[in-house]
Amino acid sequence: MAENKHFIHEIIDEELKEGGRCYGKKIHTRFPPEPNGYLHIGHAKALEIDFGTAELYGGLCNLRMDDTNPTKEDEEYVEAIKEDIKWLGHDWGDRFFYASEYFEKMYEFAIELIEKGLAYVCELTPEQMKEMRGDINTPAQSPFRDRPIEESLDLFKRMRAGEFEDGSMTLRAKIDLASGNFNMRDPVIYRINRLPHHRLGTTWCIYPMYDFAHPIEDALEGITHSLCSLEFENHRPLYDWVVNNISVETKPRQIEFARLGITHTVLSKRKLRNLVETGLVSGWDDPRMPTLCGLRRRGYTPNSIREFHARNGVSKVNAVVDFAFLEYCLREDLNKTANRAMAVINPIKLVIDNYPDDMAESFEVENNPEDPNSGTRTVTFSKELWIDKEDFMEEPAKKYFRLYPGNEVRLKSAYVIKCVGCDKDENGNVTCVHATYDTESRGGNTADGRKIKATIHWVDQKTALDAEIRLYDRLFTVEAPDLADVNYLDFVNPDSLTVVQGAKVEASLASCKPEDRFQFLRVGYFCADNKDFTPDHLVFNRAVSLKDSYKPE
Ligand code: ATP
Ligand code: MG
Repeated sequence: MAENKHFIHEIIDEELKEGGRCYGKKIHTRFPPEPNGYLHIGHAKALEIDFGTAELYGGLCNLRMDDTNPTKEDEEYVEAIKEDIKWLGHDWGDRFFYASEYFEKMYEFAIELIEKGLAYVCELTPEQMKEMRGDINTPAQSPFRDRPIEESLDLFKRMRAGEFEDGSMTLRAKIDLASGNFNMRDPVIYRINRLPHHRLGTTWCIYPMYDFAHPIEDALEGITHSLCSLEFENHRPLYDWVVNNISVETKPRQIEFARLGITHTVLSKRKLRNLVETGLVSGWDDPRMPTLCGLRRRGYTPNSIREFHARNGVSKVNAVVDFAFLEYCLREDLNKTANRAMAVINPIKLVIDNYPDDMAESFEVENNPEDPNSGTRTVTFSKELWIDKEDFMEEPAKKYFRLYPGNEVRLKSAYVIKCVGCDKDENGNVTCVHATYDTESRGGNTADGRKIKATIHWVDQKTALDAEIRLYDRLFTVEAPDLADVNYLDFVNPDSLTVVQGAKVEASLASCKPEDRFQFLRVGYFCADNKDFTPDHLVFNRAVSLKDSYKPE
């Protein structure tokens, strides 16, 4: 893994020194997803930071479902989130929590604030509150700010008891109506909302706001560092205000980092959900999605994703990373770890005219030349083979070195052959290519040392298996479909999926399992689909093409 110490670690190193805030303490972080969608590659960055930091310091990282918002959340998402995090290789041990477990505590802290004169019940409607928000030069206002503590206490308890309409009252922190930071202008910390909660049903009709709930959750779990993305920077004063004004032992520290942006895709759960709901993709795990389950199904390895984040580093400057860099990381990983196999996507027959009809032989070939421990497999060979249509041209173009009448090529790991012609149908389409083989070239090398420019892949017709191949391309045609002033749905790439039936693959693939990954020689990296692949219906997804002009700096 690339060296991944970043500015957050420099801060922690300081805090761990004698006299520092964390001297003698265990570093404790948390990952707090809102269970309203599946995790995506951006969340993986936060996962690396949260779990990675805990790991680096021999600390702990909790997994906490941030389910304080009663709408939208769903158990389906909770399970999927756990699954994805495990798949990436992170471990929360027995520290799995729901923020909603703390609702009673939060309520008590709200009471504490009211009793201290630090919160009050406000009866402004949301519209009125907006009107009275003030501006840079004018403070906000609330006619309820100075109501007696007893009155606020009574009203807040009755808010909880369900005596008031949704939206008719809020509990507000009493901080500073003139603050230059609008988050500090007596922010709402509780609202009335009768939407049922995904776990607690209708137990509550008041819900804490994120800015109040989150620091409490962190403090109650003994979190030392609450690492979050940059959009919370302006909320940090409120975070600190909450932990400093309630009776908790741990005073966690919030540190912000830049979110990951990536080209040719969107990373907002709302937009991703929309793609699913409009049927533009087949689901959250569609291999074109930037979700972790989509990338997994496509053929991405946990290692390639973690390496991608490690190499991108962590900073406070928002940056958009080229999707090609993610592909580069995958290619690098699969080059080392994926077994090789032969598959012909657009097959055409090749007949070796001088090869005996009833003869068959086999070659023992390395599974992965990059990995000495990968072992070997048997590849069969006989008179009739499948090759790719693109590897034959009756009239060769300039610089075309593959099969054309009179030219020699090497059949990978087998023999050198010479093209002697082709058959055509009544429309003039080539139906079969003919060649003769050099009997002295078993293994692929010529006895007299003559040079063979091109090597092509092939599959033995006697043992070949049919396969469905799904060729994926970018989901969006433009680099930044996420920009505010464009409708991302207008830029969905209509050619992002091409399904090829009747591809021919070598027999060894009969024993592969869903999610096995291969380099199909000369074609690309492929992954056995984890939903539709069965021994009777082989389905392979193209994870990434073999080469790209992309070079990291
Ligand atoms: P969305 O805005 O798409 O709904 P979110 O930020 O609300 O995403 P959460 O479930 O709240 O999603 O995210 C959990 C954690 O992941 C948060 O700490 C958040 O900051 C972080 N996160 C989400 N997206 C990114 C990203 N693109 N890059 C880095 N961190 C991210
Ligand atoms: Mg969020």
